[in-house]
Amino acid sequence: MSELTPKAEKLDGADELAAKRAEFVLDGPDGAVYLDGNSLGALPAAVPGRIEDVVRRQWGELRIRSWTEGGWWTAPERIGDRIAPLVGAAPGQVVVGDSTSVNVFKALVGAVRLARSADAGRDEIVVDATTFPTDGYIAGSAARMTGCTLRPVPPSEVPGVLGDRTAAVLLNHVDYRTGRLHDLPSLTAAVHAAGAYVVWDLCHSAGALPVGLDEHGVDLAVGCTYKYLNGGPGAPAFLYVRADLQDRFDSPLPGWNSHAEPFGMRPDYEPAAGAVRGRVGTPDILSMLALEAALEVWDGVTVDAVRSKSLALTDFFLECVEEYVPKGRVACLTPRAHGERGSQVALRCPDAGDVMKRLIERGVVGDFRHPDVLRFGFTPLYVGFADVERAARVLAEVLAEVLAEAGD
Ligand SMILES: *Cc1c(COP(=O)(O)O)cnc(C)c1O
Repeated sequence: MSELTPKAEKLDGADELAAKRAEFVLDGPDGAVYLDGNSLGALPAAVPGRIEDVVRRQWGELRIRSWTEGGWWTAPERIGDRIAPLVGAAPGQVVVGDSTSVNVFKALVGAVRLARSADAGRDEIVVDATTFPTDGYIAGSAARMTGCTLRPVPPSEVPGVLGDRTAAVLLNHVDYRTGRLHDLPSLTAAVHAAGAYVVWDLCHSAGALPVGLDEHGVDLAVGCTYKYLNGGPGAPAFLYVRADLQDRFDSPLPGWNSHAEPFGMRPDYEPAAGAVRGRVGTPDILSMLALEAALEVWDGVTVDAVRSKSLALTDFFLECVEEYVPKGRVACLTPRAHGERGSQVALRCPDAGDVMKRLIERGVVGDFRHPDVLRFGFTPLYVGFADVERAARVLAEVLAEVLAEAGD
C-alpha cells in the first residue's frame, strides 16, 4: 500500500467541509468518484422534496396565486441575492434567468452600448480566443450587430491590444479546458485604464473560488449555476450589473419582465431600476426553485474554505498522479501555481477518449474534451481526499492497460 492512502485518510479527517457530503445524493450505478461537478454538479438532497412541493402544492393547489403569494415573481432577484455573496457582490446586482449564452449576449451588447454612450468612436470587441465556444459565437454576433470589429486574442495578450477603439472585453475567469485561472483584478484594471468595459464569464469560478466582483470594480459578469453551484441540468444562469452602471445599462433584450411597470402593459418601454433590468421574459420557475433549494448547501460555508480545500484536493491529485502514473504518459495542462489554478485538473494524453471511457466504467467519472484532454473537476463540498487518491490510482491502472493492449 502506498503512503498516499493513509495521507488521504488524514486529510479527510481534518477536512472541515467533510460533513457537507451528506447533503448530496451521490449514489447510483456509477456513484463511486464523481469528478465532473465542473460540468454538472451533483444533486443536493434538499432538491427533490422542494420540487415536489413546487409542483404539487404551489402549482397544483395555489396555481396563479403562487406568482405573488409564493414569491415566484421575485425569484430571479431573490435567488440572485443568494448567489451574490458567493461572487463577492453586495445585494441588488445579480439577477437569475436565461442561459449563460443569452446572458453573455445581454452583458456584451450592454457593455458596448455603455462604452459608445460616452465615446461613439469605440468600435472593437476583444474576446478571449481560447474561450468556451458559445462565448466566441455570441461575441461575433454582438460585434456584427453593433458594427464593431471582433478581436480574438489569448488572454495574456489582451492588455497589449487595448486602446481608444476598445469598447468591450469578454473574458473567462477560468479556462474550461485547461483549468487556468486568469488574473481578474489586473485584467479588469487594464480594461478600465483603456476606458473600456469588461464582461467576465464566471462559469468555472462561481462556487469554486473567491471572485470579488465588487472589490475589483468589475462592470458586468455572467455565470452558470449547474456547475459548481449544483442547480441542476439547464438551471438558469446569472447576470451581474454593477450598481452604479444599472441606470445606464441598456439591455438588448428588453422584455416585459424588465419593465418598470410590467403589469401596466404599456406600449412604450421603460426599464426597471436595479438588477431587474437584466430580466427578459417569464422566469423558468421549476428550474429556478430547484436552484434555490440547491443553494441551501452554502449555508454556513465560506467561499474561502471551499477554495482552500479545492487547492488541497488538486495539489493532492497532482501528487498522486506523479506517484502512480509513469513519467511522460500524461502532461498536465493546469498551472501548478495556486494563483493560476481553478478547481480542475486537465491532463493531456494521446488516447484520452478511450482512457476516459474506461475510467467511467470503473467508477471514476471525469470528462473528455476534444481532442486529447482528460478533465477532472474537484467540487470541495462533496469530493474527499480518498476519492482523489482512488481516481489517480485507477487512472494509472487504465493507462497501463491501454499501453499493454497497444503493445499486444
Ligand atoms: C459551461 C459554460 C457555458 C455554458 O453556456 P450555456 O448557455 O449555459 O449552455 C458558457 N460559457 C462558459 C465559459 C462555460 O464554461
